[in-house]
Amino acid sequence: MSVVFEAVNCSTNRNGLVYNPAAVKTGGYGVFRIEYWPDDVDIGISWSTSSTVAEVSTHYRDPGADYAVVRGRHTGDFTLTATLSNMLGVPEQPHIRAKVLPLTRTPLHFYVMRDNGVPIADPLTISNMVVGVNHIFAQAAMEFYVADIYNMDVNSSSDWLSHNTHDSVVKMFSFTNVVDGLEIYLTQTLPNDVDGYGVRIMGSYINRDNLGIAVDITKNNLDEALAHEIGHSCGLNDIYVGTSVEMWKPPTILTMRPDNWTGDTTINYLPYDICHSNVVIRQLMNGVHVIGQRDLPFAGIYGSETRSGNLFLLLSVGLDSMSRNPHH
Ligand SMILES: [Zn+2]
Repeated sequence: MSVVFEAVNCSTNRNGLVYNPAAVKTGGYGVFRIEYWPDDVDIGISWSTSSTVAEVSTHYRDPGADYAVVRGRHTGDFTLTATLSNMLGVPEQPHIRAKVLPLTRTPLHFYVMRDNGVPIADPLTISNMVVGVNHIFAQAAMEFYVADIYNMDVNSSSDWLSHNTHDSVVKMFSFTNVVDGLEIYLTQTLPNDVDGYGVRIMGSYINRDNLGIAVDITKNNLDEALAHEIGHSCGLNDIYVGTSVEMWKPPTILTMRPDNWTGDTTINYLPYDICHSNVVIRQLMNGVHVIGQRDLPFAGIYGSETRSGNLFLLLSVGLDSMSRNPHH
């Protein structure tokens, strides 16, 4: 009999919401999933929360999985426990820590390049991207909305459409300067040294903390790309697999941190064949884009600061170290 209950979990339900979220909004719902094998046994699950901050409103079952729908009632911390009463020996009680937080709503101001007079993204593309971003940030009780969309009236000779350097991106970011929310520039290329999907440039270039976010709309999974860059605007770090040998060992309560752990110190409820690198690549803040990297954990996780780094460091990729009010 094996049981999997992962606090760090980027798999989603059919609506795109991430299972086992770090937070649920006040008055809203989060879905938590426990899996087991063989899938035809009754493991006798009952769900409970540690406080009146949140309540289990219902649960349902698929072959091999049981789901608890948890409603956030008041702001605060809670622990969701699955008591498995039909296991051999002492009943096991895997658990997940989470928060109930008031919803934040942040405006996004979009600036869309034109290519020979034609905007390179239409409003539907932008709206779909933001829906996807909101599914990811539901894990932090955050929402974003399209405040406005400007088509940037530049001609094709402008270097705004052919960014070779960070300086050209900074020039594009200087197009405007909003007072609330975030500026998102949709373009078709990024500087040569940026091989990702998006870029956010820090104020070391100019005297501003956050110059804006640029997203290359020729890539796939734009919601994940934009959500990753917004994660930086919330103060989160990149995390990479790097070259440390620790990456190829199983995760431990230390490398995952206790708040991201689902059992006691001697047992975990992770897949039996998982290694720490599998945990890193699930992170929204994974610096090398992998499709499906959508998890915002409760707390930090160990990883490398750079793509080729060999140090194994605790990095700020979780809810406990983010600002939920990103602004330009
Ligand atoms: Zn990044």
